[in-house]
Amino acid sequence: MPRDAAATFLEVLINAAALQTRVGELGKRLSDEYAQRAAPPIFVGVLRGSTLFLADLIRRCSIDVAVDFMSISSYSETSAQSGVVRIVKDLDHDIAGRDVVLVEDIVDTGLTLTYLRRALLERGPASLSAVTLLDREARRIVPVQLEYSGFAIPDVFVVGYGLDFMGRYRNTSDLYAIRDLPRLANDPDLLVDLVFDGARARRSSA
Ligand code: IMP
Repeated sequence: MPRDAAATFLEVLINAAALQTRVGELGKRLSDEYAQRAAPPIFVGVLRGSTLFLADLIRRCSIDVAVDFMSISSYSETSAQSGVVRIVKDLDHDIAGRDVVLVEDIVDTGLTLTYLRRALLERGPASLSAVTLLDREARRIVPVQLEYSGFAIPDVFVVGYGLDFMGRYRNTSDLYAIRDLPRLANDPDLLVDLVFDGARARRSSA
């Protein structure tokens, strides 16, 4: 796709520099909040979208933190709307009596975060807070408690910086907004040349 045409289809919503600046601010706030606790807080990344954010966030924390991961999936397409999910990968840590920071890529309907908050609170942590890189409030189905948020974003599908489309395009430094999702669904390779320099470089040296 020519670059001009691409602009109508895809745009950089938040560039790498802005992402890093905001992640640094969140890291500082979290460090200030958890500096005086008895034990290092456990940062729980929700697989797989939060991995890039989590990796950058903990490097911008000036305190010792523990890291763990959880993965959940909805039981079926229909239950995705109802918030009925199951834990696919559970934590390795016992979080009873510990400070827990849940790290999300995006809070959209709020169903995932609602489920995870409830599931983790049942285990008796000393405290539980949630940090999300992105908050798309326009699509909220249930109200959620969200202590820290990087960016409020409009009602547009996003990929990059950990977030995927059909498991792809997670490994970019910028975050992109997709204006024409049906078109991407039709041709899932569409973004490769637009977001990865490697593909362009290989083509031009061929
Ligand atoms: P929820 O609707 O708040 O439960 O969000 C569930 C999950 O859907 C998020 O953690 C993301 O992994 C995924 N998700 C929601 N919106 C997007 C998006 O725009 N791009 C990629 N993944 C998304």
